[in-house]
Amino acid sequence: MTEPRTPGRHFLQIPGPTNVPDRVLRAMARPVIDHRGPEFPPLALSILERLVEVFATTAPVVLFPSSGTGGWEAALVNILSPGDGVLMFETGHFAAMWCEVGRRLGLEVELLPGDWRSGVDAAAIESRLRADRHRRIRAVAVVHNETSTGVASDIAAVRRALDCAGHPALLLVDAISSLGAMEYRHDEWGVDVTVAGSQKGLMLPPGLGFNAISERARAAMAGARLPRSYWDWQPILSANERGFFPYTPATNLLFGLDEALTMLVEEEGLEAVCARHRRFAEATRRAVAGWGLELVAQNPEEYSPTLTAVMIPTGCDADALRQVILERFDMSLGTGLGKLQGRAFRIGHLGDLNELTLAGTLCGVEMGLGLAQVAHQSGGVMAALDYLARGDRE
Ligand SMILES: *Cc1c(COP(=O)(O)O)cnc(C)c1O
Repeated sequence: MTEPRTPGRHFLQIPGPTNVPDRVLRAMARPVIDHRGPEFPPLALSILERLVEVFATTAPVVLFPSSGTGGWEAALVNILSPGDGVLMFETGHFAAMWCEVGRRLGLEVELLPGDWRSGVDAAAIESRLRADRHRRIRAVAVVHNETSTGVASDIAAVRRALDCAGHPALLLVDAISSLGAMEYRHDEWGVDVTVAGSQKGLMLPPGLGFNAISERARAAMAGARLPRSYWDWQPILSANERGFFPYTPATNLLFGLDEALTMLVEEEGLEAVCARHRRFAEATRRAVAGWGLELVAQNPEEYSPTLTAVMIPTGCDADALRQVILERFDMSLGTGLGKLQGRAFRIGHLGDLNELTLAGTLCGVEMGLGLAQVAHQSGGVMAALDYLARGDRE
């Protein structure tokens, strides 16, 4: 027997992959072209030229056919050697995963402990760097927007920590769930390698990984002895100059990226995109406060504009709540990751969404809280709607 049809659109409100706009889907629904033929370089060059704006950099950005995790690995293998020290900060699940990648590659990763409710402690980074007299730490690697907790860290402050300690380590930043949705400044913040992925703020399906590479990071390639082949920046940078890639690129994702850049950079504008995300995050937090629930994020200045992680009262199961919402309202919410499994759920509010998408999302959560018998107050949705209706541009 066939399953009964589910009418309407699925609400994909996880913090990535995000909803792909119809225009991007249509841009990708094209015959594949010869990636070594004459049609290809104009596409690649137009993308590379506009992509740098999203990173706020003049440095080159390389693209891989990969998930964000590939971007993590690429960032490490291109600039480091076996046994090099890497300093990381445990903002949450994704920071811990990047740390694992480094350890498996043979790096000496030191993960400064965090409470999974706040951002990178720049002072702790600074004092650890000051203690590193022999300069064994070659890189500091942090997550800009910790997607497991909804906490955004101050990358400029991390840069100042390196500068104040007078330490020459390279600064690596995971901007996978922030790029294209919240303010990001690769050059101004003195970031050496920024890692990003296609399926979050950039409104594309999964499948592209990015590295923006500073001059210093490129110089570090010469002495880096970790084995690298597929992730090697050099052949990509060389081929990119003429609008080509050293191996088959994800051609149809590039058609989509071209369209997404037109929408984000040219039509809406990055500032407006960021303001929209800040507004939707504020509306979401007002709903959470209205429900009387607690945020995972503890410090208001670190609230993420792209997702909100919500603690669930003890005795309740966040995944049971998510299950009810999926079954009854056809909406996917983010699960609690790592040690937040079952204790928190995450509302993604990034990518291609508008006021009513967000309102529908919050309605689904509020109805779900009732159905799953999670102790809460009503009125969260109303608080969010009041805020959205005022149209505050902050
Ligand atoms: C999604 C995400 C990742 C992992 O990316 P994949 O594409 O799943 O490999 C890493 N870091 C952050 C901050 C993320 O949000």
